[in-house]
Amino acid sequence: MVGVKSRRATRLVSIGGIALGGDAPIVVQSMTNTDTADVGATVTQVAALARAGSELVRVTVNTAEAAAAVPRIRDRLAAMGLAVPLVGDFHFNGHRLLTQHPACAEALAKLRINPGNVGHGRKRDEQFATLIAFAVKYNKPVRIGVNWGSLDSELLGRMMDDNAKLSQPEDATVVMRKALVASALESAAQAHELGLGNDKVILSCKVSGVQDLIAVYRDLSARCDYPLHLGLTEAGMGSKGIVASTAAMAVLLQEGIGDTIRVSLTPEPNGDRTREVVVAQEILQTMGLRSFTPLVIACPGCGRTTSTFFQELAEGIQSYLRAQMPHWRERHPGVEEMRVAVMGCVVNGPGESKHANIGISLPGSGENPVAPVYVDGVKTVTLKGANIAAEFQALVEHYVLKNYGVGERKNSSAAKVNEL
Ligand code: SF4
Repeated sequence: MVGVKSRRATRLVSIGGIALGGDAPIVVQSMTNTDTADVGATVTQVAALARAGSELVRVTVNTAEAAAAVPRIRDRLAAMGLAVPLVGDFHFNGHRLLTQHPACAEALAKLRINPGNVGHGRKRDEQFATLIAFAVKYNKPVRIGVNWGSLDSELLGRMMDDNAKLSQPEDATVVMRKALVASALESAAQAHELGLGNDKVILSCKVSGVQDLIAVYRDLSARCDYPLHLGLTEAGMGSKGIVASTAAMAVLLQEGIGDTIRVSLTPEPNGDRTREVVVAQEILQTMGLRSFTPLVIACPGCGRTTSTFFQELAEGIQSYLRAQMPHWRERHPGVEEMRVAVMGCVVNGPGESKHANIGISLPGSGENPVAPVYVDGVKTVTLKGANIAAEFQALVEHYVLKNYGVGERKNSSAAKVNEL
């Protein structure tokens, strides 16, 4: 991709068959917000996240009931034909939970350990060693996930004291950033001393400030070749969370930093958890780093658009394309690269449509009530009347069948395309 710096070289780690680092594509991951002990609710949410495109799904393992539930969750997903690797998130009592429920470690594809929440002093070392011993025994990779909200207080205190003794002490923010990186690197070194392989470590240092995240990951990436998990922690709700995550990660991804990403959105009450997966995919796809779903190019609309019809058509086509992807992905390889234009009038409509694989230009205010359709840059048909949306969708499906492998389907709307 022109203009995008190639990825920095990192070690390759396999997580339940998903390659991370090296030249592998940047992996999208997410996390459930169900009680892991509730097997049914967690299976339902993991399945939804996986079907939305999450390639790894993390679950919290905070109680004995949650630890006992993990193998059952994994088995229920397998029975549904879903092989998405599960990652276990451990804090405070992970050493005890895995000792009591070793099957949990076996069922997980990766352990996430927060070195700031493992314990204090000698206990910290012992409990960290217990967690690493389970990873070694079951041959699992570990993400050493540092978070500034739970940064190792002893390490931070030591670095702050050392800084205070300098003739020109650095700003506390700078010391905090350095402590995050030091915590990740020191914990990784400790894990290796305990027997964890070089191809079994992923690092992350999450913060909630955009500039902090950029500075920390630039430093971290310059100092190691571990695969890095990117994400702005506590990004927030709605557009603020999306904008902040995108602003921070886009800068780093553009510099070739990051092997896997998560967008930590706070969902609205009863909101859809899969939104964070869609946003992560859209960040990667709009940057030209990966393709997941055909892109819909739509104008914003203006005083020339006469009704909401064009917005409804753009939204309808986008939902239709996303809904088809679970089976199109297998049957029509390459379809995720397709570009579909839905434009509000003839000012930019035909031009944008010509650049897309298939595009429609709806009639604007004062224009003829007709909608020209362009396929591979050539005007092929002009739609009119009440069924423009259904007819355009049929044309899109026909284009997919024709250009990305043909599959016969009964009652396919593409069968109706010849009637147009
Ligand atoms: S393409 Fe037409 S309707 Fe869309 S923003 Fe431009 S002028 Fe407005």
